[in-house]
Amino acid sequence: MNPQLLFWVPVALRMLLVLCGAGAVWYAWGVKAGLATAMLSMLVLVVIQLHYLYRLGIWLDNPNSEKMPDGMGAWTDVFARLYKLRREDERNQAELAEWLTRFRQAMSRLPDGVVIMDDVLFLEWCNPVAEQHLGLNLARDKGMRVTNLVRHPDFMDYIILGRYEQPLTLTLRDRKLLVHLIPFENRRQILVTHDATESDRIDMMRRDFIANASHELRTPLTVINGFLEIACAQPNLDQETRMAHLKLMNEQGRRMQNLVEDMLTLTRLESMDYPLRTEHVRIQELLNQIKQEAEVLSGGRHAVTLAVEGPDVKGNTEELRSAFTNLVTNAIRYTPEQGRIALFWKEDEEGPCFIVRDTGIGIKPEHIARLTERFYRVDKSRSRETQGTGLGLAIVKHVLLRHGARLVIESNLGEGSAFTAKFPKNIALID
Ligand code: ADP
Repeated sequence: MNPQLLFWVPVALRMLLVLCGAGAVWYAWGVKAGLATAMLSMLVLVVIQLHYLYRLGIWLDNPNSEKMPDGMGAWTDVFARLYKLRREDERNQAELAEWLTRFRQAMSRLPDGVVIMDDVLFLEWCNPVAEQHLGLNLARDKGMRVTNLVRHPDFMDYIILGRYEQPLTLTLRDRKLLVHLIPFENRRQILVTHDATESDRIDMMRRDFIANASHELRTPLTVINGFLEIACAQPNLDQETRMAHLKLMNEQGRRMQNLVEDMLTLTRLESMDYPLRTEHVRIQELLNQIKQEAEVLSGGRHAVTLAVEGPDVKGNTEELRSAFTNLVTNAIRYTPEQGRIALFWKEDEEGPCFIVRDTGIGIKPEHIARLTERFYRVDKSRSRETQGTGLGLAIVKHVLLRHGARLVIESNLGEGSAFTAKFPKNIALID
């Protein structure tokens, strides 16, 4: 029904009732009694309205705890509408609270830090990642100025200069952070922090790798080009010199080929798209072949022995062949003539392990932790002389990682080294 009618019809009915009552009294008892009845009825009506106004006032003061009053006449409609408004308001508030909870949950799962501040940089809210990145504590620091909490001159300059189009790179608490301030809603600002430490490290590794690889390839290329230039400039070189040059060029070509092959192997081992394919690795057979190859490489200059006491394992034969061959080849290359190289395959309480022990030149302790880094060499010229690419132990490390194994290096300078590949127990196959 029309709300105006809903309000005025009961009012008009009540007025009519009063007038009829007063008229009847007038008719029965005279004009004075009629007027007195009319006034008294009006007064009662006014008192009733005041009573409802008073109850409405009390309810409005405390709408949460007070019960919504029942009304009569037009008040029924007023209270019903107020009640409806209140229900809608409660529903909206519940929806808003739920939305806010969801928003905060989503924000807490973000990999980046988010800080919400007011126009004068007072902290209003931040997610746990921002707490970690900037050393904040929401419970403790809420309401404090962020520039007092993040005390870094570059951060202060960034805020003062107000050039927010670009993020700021900040080194804070040993991490490299990208910090970006975005003003929003006129009176609020949002600060987004992104941890770039890892991507920066990977970038640096990639740059180093490319620089090292280019350097490694440039050296043999320079040698080959040098001989080619000589051959062009002096076409009548004697046969002996020409053969010597060709031999050196061949060596350098092989060196480049080894390097490219090792780089491709490393890339493949690191690639996520190249999962480990496991099979039954026949250790005795594999190590016999590796020992024979080692003897060929040694050319009788070393005594190579092999003892296999441990079980076969589940793994990738070709990858393990490459890792073990690298260890054995290194032992031969870094052990002077008449040295001994002993290969063991054993099983102890930790699991199976492959040990390559040599009586070679040994390694100073300060180098040991870095040996598996790409292109890290203790003695560059010796490594090159023996056709080393500087990637052998990096390949070993990756193959072992893929098998859940690790490399342990023990060495004494001038006495020899022991390289042990330690495998987990569960890799062993029981016959
Ligand atoms: P490279 O091709 O130079 O041998 P690797 O990654 O195989 O590269 O080895 C890294 C470095 O570790 C070598 O340059 C060498 O200095 C040292 N090294 C590796 N194996 C031995 C060993 N058995 N005895 C002494 N030094 C070794």
